[in-house]
Amino acid sequence: MGKRILLLGAPGAGKGTQSKQLAEKYDIDHVTTGDALRANKDMETEYGTPRSFMEKGELVPDAVVNEIVKAALEDADGYVLDGYPRNLSQAEYLTEITDLDAVLYLKVAEDELVERLTGRRVCSECGTNFHVKFNQPEEEGVCDECGGELVQRDDDTEETVRERLSVFEENTQPVIEHYRDEGVLVEIDGEQTPDDVFEDIVDVVGE
Ligand code: ADP
Ligand code: AMP
Repeated sequence: MGKRILLLGAPGAGKGTQSKQLAEKYDIDHVTTGDALRANKDMETEYGTPRSFMEKGELVPDAVVNEIVKAALEDADGYVLDGYPRNLSQAEYLTEITDLDAVLYLKVAEDELVERLTGRRVCSECGTNFHVKFNQPEEEGVCDECGGELVQRDDDTEETVRERLSVFEENTQPVIEHYRDEGVLVEIDGEQTPDDVFEDIVDVVGE
């Protein structure tokens, strides 16, 4: 059985960046509700489209994301879960459908999060993350991995970033406290270089 890793952290904490490396190292699936929703933005649900929530920085209804996660975990032999659970009701649902081997919290201060998110650039082809200052591609606007075009996410504007961070404080911070109370949360200093963050995570998860 592959490792089952839960990676918690605010928007911009580096979950996607680390998950990509972890999925490779442990040969497990990268399960990310954000990417899954972006790929199905205009899917009609009884609540409206994911887009209508995402462009405001609000959470997509639990029923929609729970379904995505259930299907993805059923198919996975080990996974790193990124972007879920984002509220206590999602955390309860997760407990019903799976066990976890490690619960990690990437901690980053709010000012740094704003700078990371507003400077993030994402490959439109393969989804690799870059940053205009902290993680520049070799050629501006072009993905190092696949040559795809780098774009800014619609929700990475300053105004929507502020809303997403306040949604995190209100809804997701209690999820972090829930795992802390259970005694399973391991806090990682997310303000180090990506390589140092990765080393700390591997120290916790093991070989
Ligand atoms: P999340 O998935 O948690 O929203 P990302 O992995 O997309 O976060 O990272 C957000 C932005 O910050 C990206 O532009 C990424 O290149 C950059 N970044 C990620 N990790 C670090 C780090 N340790 N130091 C500086 N910048 C980082
Ligand atoms: P992310 O890529 O993780 O930053 O997520 C982008 C957006 O997708 C969020 O601002 C939400 O609108 C939506 N989203 C992603 N994951 C979830 C989730 N677990 N619950 C509700 N909404 C989500």
